[in-house]
Amino acid sequence: MGDADTSTTAAAHMRTLREISSGTKRRGDIIGPSRGTKPVHAPAPIDIDLLDHLIATRSEVINFVRRYNPDAGTAPINEAIYQWMEESSEDLDDGRRMALEAIAYRQGLEHALRAGNRKAIRWPACPGCDCFGLSWNAALQKAACLNQRCLTDEGLQSTWDLRQVAQHYIATQARLRRTAT
Ligand SMILES: [Zn+2]
Repeated sequence: MGDADTSTTAAAHMRTLREISSGTKRRGDIIGPSRGTKPVHAPAPIDIDLLDHLIATRSEVINFVRRYNPDAGTAPINEAIYQWMEESSEDLDDGRRMALEAIAYRQGLEHALRAGNRKAIRWPACPGCDCFGLSWNAALQKAACLNQRCLTDEGLQSTWDLRQVAQHYIATQARLRRTAT
């Protein structure tokens, strides 16, 4: 894979979400020096919605990889799935690899947002104007661009689903890699 950071980041966000889903971590515990310290609160009950999300995202990665690499070995059940994804997709052509990277990047954003880390949406640029001014609109389940010149044809604030944000991010990374070589 061309961008190991994407799968590493997705794995880190999945680990946080897994810890939340199993009750060892709470939403909002992401930032701060709490890592390694014992939680003072009682463990939350297992979050079925988060478990469903984790199962669905894992299936999405496995299905994509196996479609093009039926010989891929057994997929890990935890965040090591992204490492497995990289190792199992080394022979993919550029287009499919970018599609897979976009899935991993989108899933990383989904994990982070579900964990309550809304700042994660500030890292990728807006697909419309390339500015770093995206903000998460939970009601719409979309990223909204805060650039007042980045509007729809109707003059409304531009909004993007995570799939669009991820595809734009991965395409930009690929273009930067090409111009750097
Ligand atoms: Zn924009």
